[in-house]
Amino acid sequence: MSNNWHIDQSPARRSTQDIVVLGAGIAGCTTAAALTQRGFNVRLIDRHPLAGCEASGNPQAIVYPKLSPREDLLPRFNLSAMQFASRYYKPFWEQGLGEQCGVIVVPESDKIKSDFEIIGQRFKDQPDFVQLLNNKALCKFSGINLQASLGLYFSQLGWLPPAAICQQLLSLHQIPLIKADIQRIEYIDHRWQLFGTDKQPCLTTETLVIANAFGCRQFQQTDFLPVSQLRGQVSQIPTNTAISALKTVICGQGYITPQQHGLHSIGATYNKGLFTTAVRTEDHQTNLDQICSTDAGIANAIGAQTLTDLSGRANYRCTTKDYLPIVGAVPDLTQMIKDYGSLRHNAKANIEAGGSYLPNLYINCGMGSRGLSYAPLSAEILASELAGETAILDEDLRLALHPARFMIRDLKKKRL
Ligand SMILES: Cc1cc2nc3c(=O)[nH]c(=O)nc-3n(C[C@H](O)[C@H](O)[C@H](O)COP(=O)(O)OP(=O)(O)OC[C@H]3O[C@@H](n4cnc5c(N)ncnc54)[C@H](O)[C@@H]3O)c2cc1C
Repeated sequence: MSNNWHIDQSPARRSTQDIVVLGAGIAGCTTAAALTQRGFNVRLIDRHPLAGCEASGNPQAIVYPKLSPREDLLPRFNLSAMQFASRYYKPFWEQGLGEQCGVIVVPESDKIKSDFEIIGQRFKDQPDFVQLLNNKALCKFSGINLQASLGLYFSQLGWLPPAAICQQLLSLHQIPLIKADIQRIEYIDHRWQLFGTDKQPCLTTETLVIANAFGCRQFQQTDFLPVSQLRGQVSQIPTNTAISALKTVICGQGYITPQQHGLHSIGATYNKGLFTTAVRTEDHQTNLDQICSTDAGIANAIGAQTLTDLSGRANYRCTTKDYLPIVGAVPDLTQMIKDYGSLRHNAKANIEAGGSYLPNLYINCGMGSRGLSYAPLSAEILASELAGETAILDEDLRLALHPARFMIRDLKKKRL
């Protein structure tokens, strides 16, 4: 890597340890906690009075594994994030929040089946992390009569109630949550001013971390980020004698969790272009269809369900095209395009200038469908950089999460 676009060329300007984090979902709460642990004085802002009221509000969310036989950036990040997350959530699981019950993934196609065999081989020395199971072992670990001939079993993963995790993090680290709906931010007199719905500044801070998911698009400073809003719905089905035996999460085309208070979560839909948080019966049907196609053994155990008996919850994921989150300093787009413009003519041009970044403005968003897995590691990366610690990820992986990656790619592909 000859270009240093990721290195902020401006000298550090922070004169206090005060930081405001905007957004009290799992991304904002883990970031606030990681910063507080490093001695920063953090205030958190959200438009709701409680943490975890939007995407991070599902009753049972899964720490979802997605490995690949290939050494691509996405599975590499997923692996690091998952391993970090399983350690991070351990104390919560031990307190009885959610369950470290293990996650079984069954293949959705013959191609994925052969990928699983390669993955099983690759990790054969780490059975505590992942094991390739045959049908007999799948039935034993899951507690139900699965039909899949093989599957991957991650014993250290499980499900969590994300809103309760968010709220615990705030009380554990004594982080105040301020209720305000921020419409606009502006840099005035070396401080970020946050303007509320009454158009008045309701807060100022030297350092700001934006962690409000798709809400980042409403700010002029971050509206260039190519994130999308993708609706999803989870459904909750009542348990019965057969499915109550389920001991692990099972994922495939859909997913199902062990029961909590007599209900199993099944999910989730992907409703591109649909903008409503109202729960829809047709989405319950999709979730049922998906989980029944995951494995005939699950379909048998669930049995017939009456759609009108189901409850559910819908909200929006904040997704990126490369499925990786966006973590780091917010680029000064105009200056960066000027400095790195020659990449349009020569994608391999060696450019002397370092990157230009807006003063003390950072972002942590774009968690997609994997917020539970990705947020703890993303928060750790951001907080460790703000504290000036040594890098915790390989450089290529770190750059793959960087907010300036889109701009550099677009210049190279002459899209900017
Ligand atoms: C149906 C469904 C099922 C899912 N299942 C899983 C799963 O099983 N496992 C998993 O890992 N992930 C799952 N996800 C994805 C996961 O929920 C998200 O990745 C994660 O919650 C994102 O966290 P976040 O903190 O980035 O966003 P959010 O939780 O949405 O938090 C953003 C916060 O910012 C606040 N905010 C926004 N704009 C403003 C503003 N202008 N002023 C003040 N406050 C503002 C919001 O109120 C919100 O609290 C699922 C998502 C959906 C929709």
